[in-house]
Amino acid sequence: MESTLVRTWAEINLDALEHNYRKLRELIGEKVKFLGVVKADAYGHGAVMVARTLEDLGADYLAVSSIDEAMELRLNGIKMPILILGHTPKEQVGRLIKYDITQAVSCEAKAIEYSEECQKLGETLKIHIKVDTGMSRLGYICVGDYFSIGIGGMANACNLPGLYAEGIFTHFAMADMEGSTADEYTEKQFTLFRDVVLAVEKEVGRDFKIRHCANSGATARFPKTYLDMVRPGLLLYGYGQYSKELGLKPVMALKTTVSTVKIYPKGTAISYGGIYVTDKQTRMGVIPYGYADGFLRSLSSRCSLWTEEGLAPQRGKICMDMAMIDLTGKDSIDVGSEIEIFGEHNDIDSLSEIAGTIPYELTCAVSKRVPRMYMRGGAVVEKELMLRM
Ligand SMILES: *Cc1c(COP(=O)(O)O)cnc(C)c1O
Repeated sequence: MESTLVRTWAEINLDALEHNYRKLRELIGEKVKFLGVVKADAYGHGAVMVARTLEDLGADYLAVSSIDEAMELRLNGIKMPILILGHTPKEQVGRLIKYDITQAVSCEAKAIEYSEECQKLGETLKIHIKVDTGMSRLGYICVGDYFSIGIGGMANACNLPGLYAEGIFTHFAMADMEGSTADEYTEKQFTLFRDVVLAVEKEVGRDFKIRHCANSGATARFPKTYLDMVRPGLLLYGYGQYSKELGLKPVMALKTTVSTVKIYPKGTAISYGGIYVTDKQTRMGVIPYGYADGFLRSLSSRCSLWTEEGLAPQRGKICMDMAMIDLTGKDSIDVGSEIEIFGEHNDIDSLSEIAGTIPYELTCAVSKRVPRMYMRGGAVVEKELMLRM
């Protein structure tokens, strides 16, 4: 374990996670429930530790994308409610019930399948109905002419034997985008969602316990969308413009150390393809961080990493396990010096912009061979190496 620490590692700041949770709690108020989205291994931060922290802090719900992700949490002692946002095969309904996992239901066929399984088992499955109000991905379609068919389908799901519809939700496609077109789209989705909820409740003759729709964008920008529960991911981890505006802190810092330093004459081609050629005598460092660790190759020769003497430009093609950085004039940075790839000093939002992507993709890309170091008060409280050893 120790030997991996001088390679590349991700520090997961649990104090920052707690800070973000408390700030968001303050923002949404006491009456609104808080669902923390921990799918995709909590956006690369480690779902078990993030879930444990949220459970201790009193969060109300967690969301994951698959039954495997839900089971990982249950088998690691997480007791709080978990919602699976994606599909689960009907053969797994028994496990959903046994482990008290809530399942999203996004169409008539799935509602019927789940109901049949539940009747065979003589058990009840807790579900949340997913409404497609304009994301055009999962959910009962109910836009325009589909409204009454959609309402009928959802009401039917609520009444099917073996299913308990605890909640109903939708997902915004543009809540994090600035501008009137996006805002109008969000407004339209929200209005439709309200109409759908009212119509289904009327049809079924009872109210849903949890109505929810606010992702990070809506949580930051549209308080009226909070309803019974908010469902942020990105804000919890402290990235993006709205996190900065709300005073949230980045939870992950990705770090590495310099493993080799060499001095090349002017005119030296660096790395595969020689896309970078030194324009002067250059002091070049090698870092053990490559695309197999999550360093997007599209960033080759286009980004800088943070050293204690300021930013060092990355030079040449990023390799599978390594990359080169220009340390010319940074004489105190030598073999063993710590480099911050992104974190407190090197903003992940700027780095993702250079890569033409979003911060979500950069934290999710941090691969399983990068150990996660969980930090409290600046000290490591737990290490997680995601390789089988
Ligand atoms: C991923 C996801 C979220 C969280 O999105 P953020 O932009 O990270 O807040 C919320 N709801 C659903 C359905 C999702 O798939």
